[in-house]
Amino acid sequence: MLRELHQELGIQADYGTATGQPVFDEASDLVDVGPNLVGRMQRLTPDAARRWADMVRAAAGDEILLLIVSGFRSYQYQADLIRNKIDAGQLISDILAVNTAPGFSQHHTGHAVDIATPGSRPLTEDFENTEAFQWLRAEASRFGFSMTYPRDNSWGIIYEPWHWSLSQASQQTKNQ
Ligand SMILES: [Zn+2]
Repeated sequence: MLRELHQELGIQADYGTATGQPVFDEASDLVDVGPNLVGRMQRLTPDAARRWADMVRAAAGDEILLLIVSGFRSYQYQADLIRNKIDAGQLISDILAVNTAPGFSQHHTGHAVDIATPGSRPLTEDFENTEAFQWLRAEASRFGFSMTYPRDNSWGIIYEPWHWSLSQASQQTKNQ
Protein backbone atom coordinates (compact mmCIF):
# COMPACT_ATOMS: atom_id res chain seq x y z
CA MET A 1 0.00 0.00 0.00
CA LEU A 2 2.82 2.43 0.86
CA ARG A 3 4.64 1.57 -2.34
CA GLU A 4 1.52 2.33 -4.36
CA LEU A 5 0.90 5.62 -2.55
CA HIS A 6 4.51 6.66 -3.09
CA GLN A 7 4.36 5.77 -6.78
CA GLU A 8 1.15 7.70 -7.24
CA LEU A 9 2.61 10.78 -5.52
CA GLY A 10 5.89 10.60 -7.42
CA ILE A 11 7.99 9.81 -4.35
CA GLN A 12 11.22 7.99 -5.19
CA ALA A 13 11.45 4.32 -4.20
CA ASP A 14 14.64 4.94 -2.19
CA TYR A 15 13.03 7.71 -0.06
CA GLY A 16 13.41 5.75 3.21
CA THR A 17 17.00 4.70 2.76
CA ALA A 18 17.98 8.10 1.35
CA THR A 19 16.65 9.96 4.39
CA GLY A 20 17.48 7.30 7.02
CA GLN A 21 14.01 7.66 8.48
CA PRO A 22 12.13 4.66 9.90
CA VAL A 23 8.74 3.46 8.67
CA PHE A 24 6.07 3.72 11.34
CA ASP A 25 3.16 1.31 11.71
CA GLU A 26 -0.29 2.81 11.49
CA ALA A 27 -2.07 2.62 14.87
CA SER A 28 -5.45 0.90 14.80
CA ASP A 29 -6.57 1.28 18.43
CA LEU A 30 -7.43 4.98 18.79
CA VAL A 31 -9.58 7.18 21.01
CA ASP A 32 -10.85 10.76 20.57
CA VAL A 33 -8.92 13.35 22.59
CA GLY A 34 -10.86 16.45 21.51
CA PRO A 35 -10.92 18.82 18.54
CA ASN A 36 -7.94 20.88 17.42
CA LEU A 37 -7.88 24.63 16.75
CA VAL A 38 -9.84 24.26 13.51
CA GLY A 39 -12.42 21.91 15.00
CA ARG A 40 -11.09 18.65 13.58
CA MET A 41 -11.34 15.77 16.11
CA GLN A 42 -7.92 14.40 17.07
CA ARG A 43 -7.14 10.84 18.12
CA LEU A 44 -4.32 9.07 19.99
CA THR A 45 -3.76 5.54 21.26
CA PRO A 46 -5.50 4.92 24.60
CA ASP A 47 -2.15 5.03 26.44
CA ALA A 48 -1.03 8.26 24.78
CA ALA A 49 -4.49 9.79 25.26
CA ARG A 50 -4.40 9.08 29.00
CA ARG A 51 -0.89 10.52 29.34
CA TRP A 52 -1.82 13.55 27.22
CA ALA A 53 -4.90 14.25 29.38
CA ASP A 54 -2.80 13.94 32.56
CA MET A 55 -0.20 16.31 31.14
CA VAL A 56 -2.77 18.90 30.01
CA ARG A 57 -4.34 18.82 33.47
CA ALA A 58 -0.99 19.23 35.23
CA ALA A 59 -0.05 22.11 32.94
CA ALA A 60 -3.39 23.81 33.58
CA GLY A 61 -2.59 23.58 37.29
CA ASP A 62 0.47 25.71 36.54
CA GLU A 63 -1.66 28.08 34.41
CA ILE A 64 -0.21 26.72 31.17
CA LEU A 65 -2.61 25.93 28.31
CA LEU A 66 -1.52 23.04 26.07
CA LEU A 67 -3.56 22.72 22.86
CA ILE A 68 -3.45 19.80 20.43
CA VAL A 69 -2.88 20.73 16.78
CA SER A 70 -2.42 17.23 15.41
CA GLY A 71 -2.41 13.71 16.84
CA PHE A 72 -2.81 10.49 14.85
CA ARG A 73 -2.56 10.67 11.05
CA SER A 74 -3.29 7.74 8.74
CA TYR A 75 -1.09 6.90 5.74
CA GLN A 76 -4.00 8.03 3.58
CA TYR A 77 -4.32 11.37 5.38
CA GLN A 78 -0.59 12.05 4.98
CA ALA A 79 -0.96 11.23 1.27
CA ASP A 80 -3.93 13.63 1.02
CA LEU A 81 -1.86 16.45 2.55
CA ILE A 82 0.79 15.91 -0.12
CA ARG A 83 -1.74 15.41 -2.93
CA ASN A 84 -3.41 18.75 -2.09
CA LYS A 85 -0.06 20.53 -2.39
CA ILE A 86 0.68 18.80 -5.72
CA ASP A 87 -2.75 19.88 -6.96
CA ALA A 88 -1.89 23.42 -5.85
CA GLY A 89 1.16 23.31 -8.11
CA GLN A 90 3.98 22.50 -5.68
CA LEU A 91 6.84 20.19 -6.63
CA ILE A 92 7.07 16.89 -4.72
CA SER A 93 10.72 17.64 -3.84
CA ASP A 94 9.67 20.92 -2.20
CA ILE A 95 6.75 19.28 -0.39
CA LEU A 96 8.96 16.52 1.05
CA ALA A 97 11.20 19.15 2.63
CA VAL A 98 8.26 19.99 4.91
CA ASN A 99 6.03 16.88 4.99
CA THR A 100 7.33 13.35 5.45
CA ALA A 101 6.25 10.72 2.92
CA PRO A 102 3.30 8.50 3.95
CA GLY A 103 4.62 5.81 6.31
CA PHE A 104 7.39 8.00 7.70
CA SER A 105 5.42 10.35 9.94
CA GLN A 106 5.63 9.62 13.66
CA HIS A 107 2.00 10.74 13.78
CA HIS A 108 1.04 7.33 12.28
CA THR A 109 1.87 5.74 15.65
CA GLY A 110 -0.82 7.64 17.56
CA HIS A 111 1.90 8.45 20.13
CA ALA A 112 2.86 11.89 18.79
CA VAL A 113 1.23 15.28 19.33
CA ASP A 114 1.84 18.69 17.82
CA ILE A 115 1.27 21.18 20.63
CA ALA A 116 0.29 24.85 20.51
CA THR A 117 -0.37 27.49 23.14
CA PRO A 118 -2.09 30.89 23.00
CA GLY A 119 0.17 33.77 21.96
CA SER A 120 2.34 31.77 19.58
CA ARG A 121 1.63 30.87 15.95
CA PRO A 122 1.08 27.07 15.73
CA LEU A 123 3.83 24.93 14.19
CA THR A 124 6.49 27.64 14.18
CA GLU A 125 9.85 27.76 15.94
CA ASP A 126 8.45 30.64 17.96
CA PHE A 127 6.87 27.97 20.19
CA GLU A 128 10.24 27.59 21.90
CA ASN A 129 9.85 31.10 23.35
CA THR A 130 6.63 30.26 25.20
CA GLU A 131 6.09 29.38 28.84
CA ALA A 132 4.34 26.24 27.59
CA PHE A 133 7.58 25.09 25.96
CA GLN A 134 9.60 25.79 29.10
CA TRP A 135 7.01 23.83 31.08
CA LEU A 136 7.23 20.88 28.67
CA ARG A 137 11.03 20.88 28.85
CA ALA A 138 10.80 20.56 32.61
CA GLU A 139 7.74 18.35 33.05
CA ALA A 140 6.84 16.35 29.91
CA SER A 141 9.16 13.45 30.73
CA ARG A 142 7.10 12.76 33.87
CA PHE A 143 4.26 11.84 31.49
CA GLY A 144 6.49 9.88 29.11
CA PHE A 145 6.70 12.57 26.42
CA SER A 146 9.89 13.87 24.82
CA MET A 147 10.73 16.16 21.93
CA THR A 148 11.37 13.99 18.87
CA TYR A 149 13.11 16.54 16.66
CA PRO A 150 15.38 18.79 18.74
CA ARG A 151 17.77 21.17 17.01
CA ASP A 152 20.37 19.32 14.88
CA ASN A 153 18.62 15.97 15.36
CA SER A 154 20.09 12.86 13.78
CA TRP A 155 17.09 12.41 11.43
CA GLY A 156 17.96 15.52 9.46
CA ILE A 157 14.46 16.81 10.14
CA ILE A 158 13.90 20.50 10.87
CA TYR A 159 13.77 21.60 14.50
CA GLU A 160 10.20 21.03 15.73
CA PRO A 161 9.81 22.34 19.29
CA TRP A 162 6.04 21.70 19.01
CA HIS A 163 6.29 17.94 18.24
CA TRP A 164 6.29 15.65 21.30
CA SER A 165 5.95 11.89 21.44
CA LEU A 166 5.91 9.05 23.92
CA SER A 167 9.54 8.04 24.26
CA GLN A 168 10.69 4.47 23.57
CA ALA A 169 11.44 4.03 27.28
CA SER A 170 7.89 4.80 28.38
CA GLN A 171 6.46 2.49 25.70
CA GLN A 172 8.72 -0.32 26.85
CA THR A 173 7.67 0.28 30.45
CA LYS A 174 4.08 0.00 29.32
CA ASN A 175 4.75 -3.31 27.58
CA GLN A 176 6.52 -4.94 30.52
ZN1 LIG B 1 4.30 16.59 14.45
